[in-house]
Amino acid sequence: RVLLAIESTCDETAAAVVTRDGRVLGECIATQEKLHEQFGGVVPEIAARAHLQRILPVIQTAMQQADVQGHDLQAIAVADRPGLAGSLLVGVVAAKSLAMAWDRPLVAINHLHAHLYACQLSQPGDESVYPAIGLIVSGGHTTLYRCDSPIDLVYLGGTIDDAAGEAFDKVAAMLSLGFPGGVEVSRWAVKGDPTAYDFPRGKRNDGTFDFSFSGLKTAVRYAIVGPGRQDFSSIEISDQVKADICASFEAAVVDVLVRKSRRAVKQNRVRRLLVGGGVAANGCLRRELAKAADEDGFELVIAPPELCTDNAVMGAIAWKQIERGQFASLELDITPGLQRGF
Ligand code: ATP
Ligand code: MG
Ligand code: FE
Repeated sequence: RVLLAIESTCDETAAAVVTRDGRVLGECIATQEKLHEQFGGVVPEIAARAHLQRILPVIQTAMQQADVQGHDLQAIAVADRPGLAGSLLVGVVAAKSLAMAWDRPLVAINHLHAHLYACQLSQPGDESVYPAIGLIVSGGHTTLYRCDSPIDLVYLGGTIDDAAGEAFDKVAAMLSLGFPGGVEVSRWAVKGDPTAYDFPRGKRNDGTFDFSFSGLKTAVRYAIVGPGRQDFSSIEISDQVKADICASFEAAVVDVLVRKSRRAVKQNRVRRLLVGGGVAANGCLRRELAKAADEDGFELVIAPPELCTDNAVMGAIAWKQIERGQFASLELDITPGLQRGF
């Protein structure tokens, strides 16, 4: 049996047809990068409208590739939280309409849990990794959870301001490196000196599992333009300085992420760390986490780079909910989840 998973939480319109044992029979992702590039960030209204145009063709492509029809589906799963309201709405309305038209059950997916589940797609039945600590580092979230199963997560702490990915994107925008900026910043960082700037490590030693990246972002701004100036357009900086800023910024982000994750593993006496979300594709973070795992003797389970950013394949988590009979009704509404602790 197969299920259809739909993902539209931010700026990727995606659908996938996945089997219970984790095989992907069909997949389609339409990214909106080009639409948001000139704004240096995702514009919610533009994202919602683009989802609306793309959602049905994307679903159709995934289903044709898998060679399945509505009556072949065991369920239709959709990410209903957290995310941009207008974006979520398009996926949820599409899923509900198809569930009604094809008379199939509906499953509501938590997009963050799905990001972590991306670590496990290659061994879907294997629950021996639990209990574990889960670290989400994405465009909108930087969160530590204690995970007792793919769908039983307890919030330990998270960012009080910017998310790690958001900080990467904003630094990229300040240095005119393009959007989304994470990949660009990490490419420049390779050529730079991570000790060139002593950027702040917010909340590094505060004893919580919270994060803060807005002070770091401001420090990068001052390194570029000096205090008090708003305008980046007239600033000329050399490639070496750019590379040094990127390397020092990346080192600061990675430092706090690694430090808090290993402490969470220790304090909760678990043996594994699961890591997902777009920033988990970052080479420096992957390297430093692997080093920490080696030193502390825990196992690092990190999503393959191509499954770190938004996709619908990670919607395979819905099988876990189906096992427990956790279905949604056709009254399902979106939960943007803007509050802390989500
Ligand atoms: P959320 O999942 O919190 O709703 P999102 O879905 O927008 O947010 P993802 O798609 O998981 O986020 O990740 C996108 C983010 O990952 C962007 O901020 C992007 O810059 C960042 N990113 C992608 N690749 C890298 C990389 N190699 N290094 C650092 N950051 C990266
Ligand atoms: Mg995206
Ligand atoms: Fe995401």
